[in-house]
Amino acid sequence: MSEQGFTTKIVHSDRLLNLEYGAVHAPIHNSVPYGFDDVQDLINIFQGQPGHAYARQSTPTIDALQHKLCQMDNGYATLAFASGMAAIVTTFLSLLKSGDHLICSRFLFGNTNSVMGTLQSYGIEVTLVDTTNIEEVKAAQKDNTRMVFAESIANPVTQISALDAIGDFCEKEKLVYVIDNTMASCYLFDATTVKASLIITSLSKYVAGHGNALGGAVTDSGLFDWQAYPNIFEGYRKGDSKMWGISQIKKKGLRDMGGCMSSQIAHLISVGSETMELRMDRQCDNALLLAEFLEQHPKVAKVYYPGLNSHPQHDLAKRLFKKFGAILSFDLIKDEDCCKVLNKLDIVINATHLGDNRTLALPVAPTIYGEMGLAVRKQMGISETMVRCSIGIENSADLLADFKQALA
Ligand SMILES: *Cc1c(COP(=O)(O)O)cnc(C)c1O
Repeated sequence: MSEQGFTTKIVHSDRLLNLEYGAVHAPIHNSVPYGFDDVQDLINIFQGQPGHAYARQSTPTIDALQHKLCQMDNGYATLAFASGMAAIVTTFLSLLKSGDHLICSRFLFGNTNSVMGTLQSYGIEVTLVDTTNIEEVKAAQKDNTRMVFAESIANPVTQISALDAIGDFCEKEKLVYVIDNTMASCYLFDATTVKASLIITSLSKYVAGHGNALGGAVTDSGLFDWQAYPNIFEGYRKGDSKMWGISQIKKKGLRDMGGCMSSQIAHLISVGSETMELRMDRQCDNALLLAEFLEQHPKVAKVYYPGLNSHPQHDLAKRLFKKFGAILSFDLIKDEDCCKVLNKLDIVINATHLGDNRTLALPVAPTIYGEMGLAVRKQMGISETMVRCSIGIENSADLLADFKQALA
């Protein structure tokens, strides 16, 4: 299997599970409970044997999606959640405890940044560092450091963390290395190549792709030695030690906190994922074209896009990623009103969200970074006139024409 291409694996994944009647899609199982003729079969599932007992923990449809996502991530085991945020917060709350220390990127998705405040209020220490600089990550380490968290491409300024150097550091220091790979995605970036322990993805973005389903996933790469991790409860320290981390996230997190995906949504995400490579190739190509156009435009002061030579981590992106992603941001020159430009766009939709087939744009300061205030925005390198664009699969000539007329 492993020598097959990304899309070949995805489109044949369900079929190879030997589904009833030769179905090529996993059926949508809506049943919440699962009943058994012999109660021993139910007991066995409670005791850890494969099978389904209650839909908050698993369904056959979710299993099929998890299997597919695990192949896409090149991982060892995958768990699906109701949203990307459910995956993120459940991972933190089931693997960290009061008194632990987390080293975290300063350049974070807004809601994840908000979670950091919550963790601190629960007694988990958090140090925010510039993760593009490995020396800052190393300097933040303390005796109680358990985990390092970074995003593959940060939003909206598109910084790229020192992903490979952090991987080497975490391996050496036996720290759990968590990468939120939503923005690059498993298609552009195989996070196991930089030794990520856990890979988190908001499936709502590029994996589902159509803006019609919320979901999240955590994949264990199988690379972290959970036997060396002090927070694994005694009950989960048995059997295959590569499963200890994900088992604890499943029981203490998914089961107890309840942020589970539904089978209906798993089906939508599964179908969406089949065209991920085709969509993303087009989106990335469109984004590069637009970034180059905007960089030359007299009304644009600065463009943030990893595919441009001017991007500070352009070489790193070239080395680690297949393409440069489909998020680009730009600052207008002084005295140009970004809201006026946004209102003039015809094809581009004023909307939050990213990874959609449609091109979406929004003014960053008063929306996704509004709650943080001016001082924090400055610290994060976010200007007051910044526009973030999530580039879609429209025909490139139409997108170019739309930006041209809006900026004229
Ligand atoms: C959107 C996003 C999330 C949250 O995902 P949801 O599915 O919307 O909950 C987390 N991290 C990043 C980088 C994102 O872009």
